[in-house]
Amino acid sequence: MIGKRADIEYNICGAKSMEYFVGVDVGGTWIRIALTTASGSMLRKVVFPTPREGDKYTIAMVIADTIKKEFKEYLENIKVVGIGTAGPLDLAKGSVIGAPNIPIRTFELGRPLVDEMRKPVIIANDCVAAVWGEKLFGLGKGKSNIVYITLSTGIGGGVIVNDLLLLGKMGNAHEIGHMVVDVNGKMICGCGGKGHWEAYASGANIPKFVNKLLEEWHLSEDEKRSSIYKLYEEKILTAEAVYKEAEKGDRLALKIVNEINKYNIAGFENVINVYDPEVITVGGAIALRNKRELALDPIIKGISVSKGVVTQVPVIELTPLGEDIVLMGAIALALNPPRNLVSMLKYLETL
Ligand SMILES: [Zn+2]
Repeated sequence: MIGKRADIEYNICGAKSMEYFVGVDVGGTWIRIALTTASGSMLRKVVFPTPREGDKYTIAMVIADTIKKEFKEYLENIKVVGIGTAGPLDLAKGSVIGAPNIPIRTFELGRPLVDEMRKPVIIANDCVAAVWGEKLFGLGKGKSNIVYITLSTGIGGGVIVNDLLLLGKMGNAHEIGHMVVDVNGKMICGCGGKGHWEAYASGANIPKFVNKLLEEWHLSEDEKRSSIYKLYEEKILTAEAVYKEAEKGDRLALKIVNEINKYNIAGFENVINVYDPEVITVGGAIALRNKRELALDPIIKGISVSKGVVTQVPVIELTPLGEDIVLMGAIALALNPPRNLVSMLKYLETL
């Protein structure tokens, strides 16, 4: 088994030509699969909706069938498949357990894909894959200390410290969205915890937080005439609407975004204090699809004035890999599998 594992310890420089790699991004809505060369250049990309029904093997089978069909002529020369998936994961088994954002919440990926493809399949949490992609292809190039933060439906992170991809005993060393940023625990997180960052600033939870704020705040008549207040009254408020209305200059929406960013500043400061990164790259729909003057700059500014960071403040920037970052991360896992991750993936022993 050890000999087989050695086969997958490729790195970009060492990989031969005529070798191909596959990256897979398993998200709640879409699955994206890409075929790349040994240097990571994308040759083909296939995107299709994530199956919403089926059993615990359906997602793995759809991925295997798609690779076999779409990349048929390359199949023999595909060396490794990398996967970044929404979690939580049982890394040893290569399975997803109770994913809140995927319709089939619990499913197997590792063993059925290894059985079907007869190739190494390297699985990681989507944000873990993303930070590895950032190191190989993005702003993390040449850096040893990198954090990737996604501000999206949830808040997640991937962390590299001194070139080591942090994993933890079960692969959860980077669950930054569940750090406490409010000891009074005004909001309850989807995980059940109180005061978690994600409960205040993630796309899925912003509407609940805004409802709470609007109940608490003494609003002026002017504020009650704002479009965001109407959406609140009609109970159709979304995170997207909050940022869009703020962008248009709606004062109540701006006040709300300002409040959300207080929690983002606390979250970022905790991340900086704990991991001491050289660079933090930021992705996810909230960061990428809204004006940076609302979504990113206030966080950077807040950190610079708060004096809440005990180390040098890192570069904080949007990821240049955009919405493909998890896919690029999955490709990076295939091209250059982190050794400590590979050693956790017990399902590879069946190869
Ligand atoms: Zn939580």
